[in-house]
Amino acid sequence: MEARAGTVGERTGVVIVGAGPAGLTLANLLRAGGVDCVLLETESREFIEQRPRAGFLEEWVVRGLERRGLAGPGLLGAQAHGDCEFRLEGEQHVFRYGELSGHRHFVYPQQLLVTDLVRAYADGAGGDVRFGVRDVALHGIGTDAPAVSFTDPRTGQHRSVTCDFVAGCDGARGVSRKAMTEHGAGVFRHDFGVGWLALLAEAPPSAQRVVFGLHSRGFAAHMARSPEVTRYYLECPPGDSPENWPHERVWSELRLRLGAHDATPLNEGALIERRVLDMHNYVVEPMSYGRLHLAGDAAHLVAPVAAKGMNLALNDALLLADAFLAHYADGDDGALNGYSETCLRRVWQYQEFNQWVSEILHGPSSGDPFRAGVAAARLRRMTRSERAGTALAGLYIGSDADH
Ligand SMILES: Cc1cc2nc3c(=O)[nH]c(=O)nc-3n(C[C@H](O)[C@H](O)[C@H](O)COP(=O)(O)OP(=O)(O)OC[C@H]3O[C@@H](n4cnc5c(N)ncnc54)[C@H](O)[C@@H]3O)c2cc1C
Repeated sequence: MEARAGTVGERTGVVIVGAGPAGLTLANLLRAGGVDCVLLETESREFIEQRPRAGFLEEWVVRGLERRGLAGPGLLGAQAHGDCEFRLEGEQHVFRYGELSGHRHFVYPQQLLVTDLVRAYADGAGGDVRFGVRDVALHGIGTDAPAVSFTDPRTGQHRSVTCDFVAGCDGARGVSRKAMTEHGAGVFRHDFGVGWLALLAEAPPSAQRVVFGLHSRGFAAHMARSPEVTRYYLECPPGDSPENWPHERVWSELRLRLGAHDATPLNEGALIERRVLDMHNYVVEPMSYGRLHLAGDAAHLVAPVAAKGMNLALNDALLLADAFLAHYADGDDGALNGYSETCLRRVWQYQEFNQWVSEILHGPSSGDPFRAGVAAARLRRMTRSERAGTALAGLYIGSDADH
């Protein structure tokens, strides 16, 4: 790296860029394994500990965290879900994936997991984390001595950390993915052509399970987050403004799209988050170049159709931690060399399942009777055929996706 005048230099083993679920999990595991690392995050600690996003963790991920001492009592005691429900033309179709697969989702809001992981790393283990950093840039990832530079928010000083490896865990809007594509990685993207209005309501869940409303006016969903807060989604035109969705309109569309003959009425409440997601997926391939390895949303985005993103991010982090630990313990780079390929197997399985389910969710509102017919056929197969349902349950809960 061309040293900038006044830059303060440091050295560590691994620089982890981004303190989301992926970066924090990796940081904890490296710290526990005695590997020096520095974790850089552009936001404040308070901000990331309150940022609401995902809420469904697949059982195998929870067990993976538990085995490594990273599942606290909050997560292990979280409510478990083993079925979900589709509502179409007033009928309720229940998919009992827990019974079919033998595994459940744990409902644990992402911000609680992040809070647990920050506490374990920074407070419990005294790990090095720098919040609020600016101007993060990667250097020399194709060399044996890569570096990450940033501006320290407290002093305004420009700093550069030279390291053995960089872990790019900085999500969909970070800098790591760009560094990877500048070195020839492909970004393969799929756009759904729809938007989802993502809502958080201060209202108790209205059902004991996830509910998907399939409706000609657009898809809708209900997902528990806590006894007091529920996440809802409403399909909307891509690029729509949340301003177009005042309180009354939101609740009347939710009532309509999630309605069914025998359903209990929705518990309504104040909307504390209202933003439009541009529904798309992407995969960066390969996920490694030189000394840079991507993990989580930096490497792959899965629209929240089937609650996959956080689970994939954690899978990457667990694999990358094992690979780094093997490198530092005995110089074995087999897992590091195979990291991208191993992760991508599960990533593509999840992408495929996401595409498959997405057609059930969006077919009825597509305006195309053919797509609506396909959606209804898929729904029948999923909920009425035990053989098909068992295979799909394994994919939904992620227990049968590592190939
Ligand atoms: C509304 C919504 C609902 C979702 N629902 C679900 C769900 O139910 N189930 C599920 O599994 N997934 C869901 N997801 C996806 C899930 O939230 C993500 O997949 C998950 O956050 C990915 O974790 P990550 O650690 O890879 O990235 P992130 O959580 O995005 O973390 C990346 C971190 O890097 C930081 N950062 C960014 N740029 C830089 C930089 N240049 N330098 C340093 N730091 C940087 C960011 O501030 C952030 O803290 C949802 C997402 C959204 C938006």
